[in-house]
Amino acid sequence: MIRFDNSYARMPQGFFARVSPSPVRSPDLLAFNDALAERLGLDGQALRQGDGVSILAGNAVPDGADPIAQAYAGHQFGGFVPQLGDGRAVLLGEVVAPDGTRFDLQLKGSGPTPFSRNGDGRAWMGPVLREYLVSEFMAAMNVPTTRALAAVKTGDTVWRQEGGLPGAVLTRVAASHIRVGTFQYFAVRDRPEALASLTDYVIQRHYPDATGPLDLLNKVVERQADTIADWMSLGFIHGVMNTDNMAISGETIDYGPCAFMDVYHPDTVFSSIDQNGRYAWAQQPQVAVWNLAQFATCLIPLMGDQDQAVEDATRVVHSFGPLYQAAWQKRFGAKLGIEGAPNQTLIERLLTMMAEQRADFTRVFDGLNNGTARDEFTQRDVFDAWHREWQALSPDLAAMKLVNPVRIPRNHRVADAIASAVAGDMGPFDRLFDAVTHPYRQRDDWDDLSHAPLQSEVVRATFCGT
Ligand code: AMP
Ligand code: MG
Repeated sequence: MIRFDNSYARMPQGFFARVSPSPVRSPDLLAFNDALAERLGLDGQALRQGDGVSILAGNAVPDGADPIAQAYAGHQFGGFVPQLGDGRAVLLGEVVAPDGTRFDLQLKGSGPTPFSRNGDGRAWMGPVLREYLVSEFMAAMNVPTTRALAAVKTGDTVWRQEGGLPGAVLTRVAASHIRVGTFQYFAVRDRPEALASLTDYVIQRHYPDATGPLDLLNKVVERQADTIADWMSLGFIHGVMNTDNMAISGETIDYGPCAFMDVYHPDTVFSSIDQNGRYAWAQQPQVAVWNLAQFATCLIPLMGDQDQAVEDATRVVHSFGPLYQAAWQKRFGAKLGIEGAPNQTLIERLLTMMAEQRADFTRVFDGLNNGTARDEFTQRDVFDAWHREWQALSPDLAAMKLVNPVRIPRNHRVADAIASAVAGDMGPFDRLFDAVTHPYRQRDDWDDLSHAPLQSEVVRATFCGT
């Protein structure tokens, strides 16, 4: 049913543990992504039915799969944990799409592995559906991201602080699941030969033009600068930018406590476990640099003369600043329709005004285009003055429509869709999915989905919900 070619499972001892997904009570397909199945060259029709659903639930291992849990380490909120690894995920294997691109197929929430520590290896419907919606919105916005192929309800109960919750399994698709933390795992164990194998593997799989470890670092820095600029331009807050949640491919990965801001403020944080705002919206570029410095530290032993290596790697890590700045200007310039002549102070003044007047991030940028931005501000004269200056630059309104989404997966809408799904009604989820994966499409019957939350609807915290 699926044609696998499992290159990671051919890596040396210690890179992973062979483990099968654990069966679940009564699989029930909640969502299936036909467009993605087609992109991957998979038979969506077959996967939606009996045997296919068994595979997506982890009740059957398809022919050609070689299920493994990958080993990795990571800095979590700045503290190093030498062993994390796939504690509730199993990599079924890799598929090569019709266009030749290789993808990981991973089941998340598929039961315990040797890396589970005290966890149950499971996930509940909330975070599974949330990741499904948000990652597919990101893909629709052309942001590098892991994707969601399917969500299956397990029929088992998962126990969390909140009590008993309905379990689910997500089929996640990624360019690969190799993280900064994968490199750290071997670096901390002082296994230079394993680091060298991993580096060669990553170059071959993701950066075939890279000439060596330093150039690999350089290319990862470039990709991350772009990805983070994408996040910023959407008001996206990842929430857990630990080094184990930073993909070497540059894809956004791990949608645990992520959220989009409604009202703009640079210090916005949603994650209930991020008490100090370490991963607030405005911190994300700096955190990325910090994470990339950890990546560089892993690669330095492979770079020959060590004094020179430290100097070179430091320079490359620091190149994130200007690369990110350029990417940021390009994104926000495009959002204002003034691409080509991005005006830094004009952008910053708008953001300052938005923060001071508690304006809705998405609605301001969309509203600049359709004439409703003014409604988002309380001090209209301040906005009008800015607006005149902006208009004097003859912004390209048609171009703006291609970058500013009409709607995002707002937290209160995601929460509603999850609550209905738990109660047995997938209608709101399906509708929200359709709407956020067509983020530029204006449709009257989707109007409510682009509204900001009422005071009573505002979601202030998200939970890892793991
Ligand atoms: P995350 O916060 O999702 O990035 O996960 C951090 C680490 O905790 C990873 O090693 C996960 O595999 C592990 N983990 C998270 N939730 C569970 C769970 N329910 N059971 C086992 N391991 C888990
Ligand atoms: Mg993670």
